[in-house]
Amino acid sequence: MEAPSALPISSPPAPDWASLVDLQTRLNTILDFEALVQEALRESAAFSGAARAVILFTDDVAATEDSVIRPVGVTGYVPATLRSLRETIAFSTHDADPAIAAWSRREVYHDAAHEALRSLVTAVEMQAWVGLPIVVRGMLMGALILDLPELPAAPVVAWLKSLANSIGVALRNARLHSQATSSLNARMNELAILQRIDLELSEQIHASHVFDMTLDWVLRYTGSNAGTIAVYDEDSDVLKFVAEIGYEAPEATRTMVRNAADGGIAKRVAHSARSELIPDVSNDPDFAPVSTVMRSHLSVPVMKEDRVIAVISVESRKLNHFNDDHLTFVERLAARAGNAMDNARLFSQTSSEREKLANILLNITDVVVVFNAEDRLVLMNQSAYPVLRLYTDGKYEGQSAEAVLEGTDLLPVYTEARKLQDTISQELQMPNGRTYSAHLSFHSHVGCIIVLQDITEAKETDQLKNELIATVSHDLKQPLTVMQGYLELLLMSTQMEGRPLEYVRAAQRSIANMRGLIDDLLSLAKIESGIQLNMRALDLKTILDRCISDLGASAEMKSISIKLDVPDGLMVQGDHLSLGQIFNNLIGNAVKYTPPEGKVTVNCERRGDVVVVTVADTGLGISPEDQAKIFNRFYRVRRPETEMIDGTGLGLAIVKRLVELHRGHIGVDSRLGEGSRFIVTLSAGKDPEI
Ligand code: ADP
Repeated sequence: MEAPSALPISSPPAPDWASLVDLQTRLNTILDFEALVQEALRESAAFSGAARAVILFTDDVAATEDSVIRPVGVTGYVPATLRSLRETIAFSTHDADPAIAAWSRREVYHDAAHEALRSLVTAVEMQAWVGLPIVVRGMLMGALILDLPELPAAPVVAWLKSLANSIGVALRNARLHSQATSSLNARMNELAILQRIDLELSEQIHASHVFDMTLDWVLRYTGSNAGTIAVYDEDSDVLKFVAEIGYEAPEATRTMVRNAADGGIAKRVAHSARSELIPDVSNDPDFAPVSTVMRSHLSVPVMKEDRVIAVISVESRKLNHFNDDHLTFVERLAARAGNAMDNARLFSQTSSEREKLANILLNITDVVVVFNAEDRLVLMNQSAYPVLRLYTDGKYEGQSAEAVLEGTDLLPVYTEARKLQDTISQELQMPNGRTYSAHLSFHSHVGCIIVLQDITEAKETDQLKNELIATVSHDLKQPLTVMQGYLELLLMSTQMEGRPLEYVRAAQRSIANMRGLIDDLLSLAKIESGIQLNMRALDLKTILDRCISDLGASAEMKSISIKLDVPDGLMVQGDHLSLGQIFNNLIGNAVKYTPPEGKVTVNCERRGDVVVVTVADTGLGISPEDQAKIFNRFYRVRRPETEMIDGTGLGLAIVKRLVELHRGHIGVDSRLGEGSRFIVTLSAGKDPEI
C-alpha cells in the first residue's frame, strides 16, 4: 500500500483490505485509550485525506440502548482544548439530529449544509463532512467524522465504515481495560488500607483509640465531611456517641438534637441491623440535623455475632455523595472494627473490674496475703504491712512465705496448712500485739489465701463476758450448795415418804441440773478465756476406762452395755483433764440419748500421725439439720423423744472447743432413729507418759 499521506485530497486510494487487517491488529495492541484515539485519528485522516478528523465515543461501554456520545479526539487538538470540548458537547444516541438518526440506521451521513451536530461542527470549524457510525456488538457507540467536501466512492466508504468499526472495537477494549485496571487499583488500594487497619486495630486495646482510628479511616476513604461512631446497648436500647469528627455545634447542642430525633438514622440502623445510604437527608424524617449543611448520609451497623454493638455514620455536604463503593468499604471496615471494638469493650470491662477489686482489697481493714503454689508471694494488701512488720516501701512480691511471714505465729500455721492442703482457721497473736482470727485456705490455680481479721476488741469483750459469767456462776453455786445441804439434812432428820419425799427429790434434781448448767458455763468461760493445756503423751485406755466407770451407774440403770475397743499402749497427745471432759461428754451423751437395752461402742485406732476415737451408739440419732447445729452453744434438739432428757446444750460446744484447742477435729455421722457416731481425731502421743 502506498503512503496515504501522498494521495491527493478527497481522492482516497482504492481500498486495500489487507492493510485494514494490519491496521486493526495494530490498533488492538494499543491499550491506552488516549494514545489509541490519537493513532486512530491520525490513520483515518491520513487515509481519507481529511484535514480534520473527530471521533465521538460513548461514555459507558457497558450501556445498551440509550447512551451518551461525546468527542474523545479531534486532530490537532491539545488535551486542554479537548477537555473543555468533551465537557461541553455531548449527544444522546436517541437524539433527533439527522446525523445521529442516520447512524442509528447504520448509515453514513454526509453533511454539506451545516444541518447536523451544529455545536460540534461549529466548535471544530468544519465545513462539509462525512460521518461514519461506530458500531460495536450491534450497538451504536460513536462515530468517526471526517472533514471531506464530498462523499467518497462506495468501496472507500465501505472501507472507512470497517475502519470506524475497528476503531470502535479497539476503543471499547481500551476503555474496558482502563476500567478494569482502575477498579483493580481501587480494590488493591482498599485491600492495602484494610490490611493496615487490621494490623493497627489488632494492636489497639483501648476503646477510644479504636473508635477514633476507625472513624478517621471511614471519613478519609469516603471523602465525608463529618461522622460519628455510637455504641449500642441492645438491652437498654441506648445509643451512646463515643467518637465524632467534623461537627461544629457544641456537645450539649449535639446531644440535644440527637435526643430530639431519638438517635436519628443511626438508631434506625441499630434497630434494623441494615446499612442505609441516604442520598438526600431532607427527605428522611429521622435525620438529626446536628449540622444543617449536611445533605447526604451513610450509616453502617457494627455487628458482633448477630447483635448490633455500634453504628458508624458519615455525612457529606454534597447531595448524593455516597455510592456503593463507599458502602462496601465501610461495611468491610465495620466487620473488622467489630472484633476490635468488642475486644476493647471487654478489656475496659475487665480492667475496671480489676481496678474495683484492687481498690476493695486496698481499702479493707482485714489483712489479705496470697501465696502461689510455689510458696511465693503474689498479692498482699496495705493492711498486711504493719501486721507482718514489713516495710511499706519494700518489694515483697515473689518472695518466699518463709521470708514474708518470718517471726510471726502465722508461719507455722501456714506450713501446717500447706502440709495438710486443708483449710485452717485459728486465733493468732501477731507481733503488733493484736489478736487475729486467721483463715488459711487453698485454691487450685491461686494457691494459699490468708485472711486475718482483727478480733482484739471482740476478744476483750468476750473476756469481760467470761469473767462476768465466772463470777456470777460462782456466786450462784454458793446458795445451791447450801440448799442441797439443807435438803439432805431434812431427809436425814425426817422420816419422809409419799408426796413430801417426791417434792424433796424433785428439788434435789433441779438443784443438780442447775449445778450442771453452772459447771458447764464455768467450764466454757474458762476455755474461752484461754485455758492453758498441759499437753503430754497420755495412755488413751486409762482415760477412757475412767470415763466409762464414771458413767457405769447411769448405763446400768438403762441396761446399756458400753464396749471399749482400744489397743494396749495407744498414746495420745493431750491435756489429761480436757480429754476426760471430752470423752465424758461424748460417752455420757451416747448413754443419755440411747433408749434402754441399747449399745454404746468406743473404738480407737491409730492412723499415721493421728489417733481416731469413735463413740457410737444405737440411740435416737440426729437429723441432718440438727447435726449442723448441735455444736452451737445452748442448742438442744427439740423432739418428743428428747423432751424428758435433761441437759444444758453446752456439752458439745465445750467438747468442740477442747478438741480444737488440741488441734484436732470432731465430726458426727448419724441417722435419725438408727444411732450416732462421733469421730474425734487427735495427734498421736509423741513422748512416753510421765
Ligand atoms: P445436752 O446438754 O442437751 O446434751 P449437748 O451439747 O451435749 O447438750 O448436745 C446437744 C444436743 O445434741 C442434744 O440436745 C441432743 O439432742 C443432741 N445429741 C448429742 N449427742 C447425741 C447422741 N449421742 N445421740 C443423739 N443426740 C445427741
